[in-house]
Amino acid sequence: MRASAYPLVEVDDAAALVLERTPVLSVERVPIGECVGRVLAEDLVATASLPAFPSSAVDGFAVRAADAGKKLRVLGESAAGRPFVGSVEPGTAARILTGGMVPDGADCVVMVEDVRFDGQAVTVPGGLHAGNNFHRPGADLLAGERVLTAGTQLGPAEIGLAAALGHAALGVRRRPRVALMSTGDELVEVGEKVPPGKITDSNRWALLAALREAAVEVRLLGIAPDEPEPLRRLVAHALTDADALVTSGGVSVGTHDLVKPLLESLGEVHIGRVKLKPGKPFTFATIPPSHLAFGLPGFPVSSLVTFEVFVRPALRKMQGFAQLQRPTLPVRLAYDARASADRTEYQRVTLRREGADLVADTTGSQSSSRLMSLVGAHALVRVPAGGQVISAGSTLEAMILALP
Ligand code: AMP
Ligand code: MG
Repeated sequence: MRASAYPLVEVDDAAALVLERTPVLSVERVPIGECVGRVLAEDLVATASLPAFPSSAVDGFAVRAADAGKKLRVLGESAAGRPFVGSVEPGTAARILTGGMVPDGADCVVMVEDVRFDGQAVTVPGGLHAGNNFHRPGADLLAGERVLTAGTQLGPAEIGLAAALGHAALGVRRRPRVALMSTGDELVEVGEKVPPGKITDSNRWALLAALREAAVEVRLLGIAPDEPEPLRRLVAHALTDADALVTSGGVSVGTHDLVKPLLESLGEVHIGRVKLKPGKPFTFATIPPSHLAFGLPGFPVSSLVTFEVFVRPALRKMQGFAQLQRPTLPVRLAYDARASADRTEYQRVTLRREGADLVADTTGSQSSSRLMSLVGAHALVRVPAGGQVISAGSTLEAMILALP
């Protein structure tokens, strides 16, 4: 073992440095049917008002409010998509259906339930008010209004809105392409027999899932041995068409830890150690012309926690998200948390509600090899360094993974 040459960087500084070096990807036009989950690249301004015409909210009769209480001659019908051509004059009405255009002259709609209709004439109740039972032009939104801002993720409502305004395609950010590999001579492909001293590669599947959740395109590269040349070849190949490389393992200071020197030889290593628990050996490099490389530690919990803290926000920046971080909320500890002496720790907890409070229970041993500490966790509680015991009942900030 040798001492690491890399300075220990504060978590927040490291996270900021990663984001500083992370580019926002280019814009592409995508048909709206394929836009779910994508991030809008430009503000969307309504080019027309909605509704564009006075649109009936009910089935009934379009009348003049001044004709309240009278028997009115019915001139015709205004159905959705088939407007009545003509004007509702005093003493007359037009039958109207939901979504039908309110004809000229009419200023309110009476619900069919409230009238007597004999086939030719309709008797309407008293007390009618102009504007009743129809949507005025522009009631939902006005032409010129900014309806979506750049950086918004497109979900069903946003896509429906874009369609309603006539956009068949939208300008969204390109999805990052990420190459993913595991490193380590001890690793065996999942499902294969595990000889003594070997372990199954689980990180690649955990990280693949994390990348899929982050909605990026993934290229799975398999397992690289702890040998410089094969590792170099795999990484060089991976970088030909990837925006980012994610590796696990091989970043600590053991003699077999080859990822840092390899990244040094290919580009510039900006972060080699972080005051973070778990995840101290997290490594971040840039490789010309524009690749990012994330060397995640091999311990399964370390790789997923460093993914959350550093990689996920970077992938969100690439995709153009306005919001890069997961939400954080104050939570009340139901256990005594022992702080690390010199590292910010992300402790895994489940949450439960007590009145207005979120109460955090530990998931048990916080060993970085113990995936069960992350299974079912609702949040990562951020425990500041200092070595002290933070007693049950204290409130700390937590990164929310899922609310109970
Ligand atoms: P390393 O960061 O390579 O020193 O690995 C640290 C620990 O994580 C070792 O116990 C490794 O066996 C384990 N580890 C490394 N890579 C993986 C992986 N892909 N899946 C599961 N465990 C791993
Ligand atoms: Mg290793």
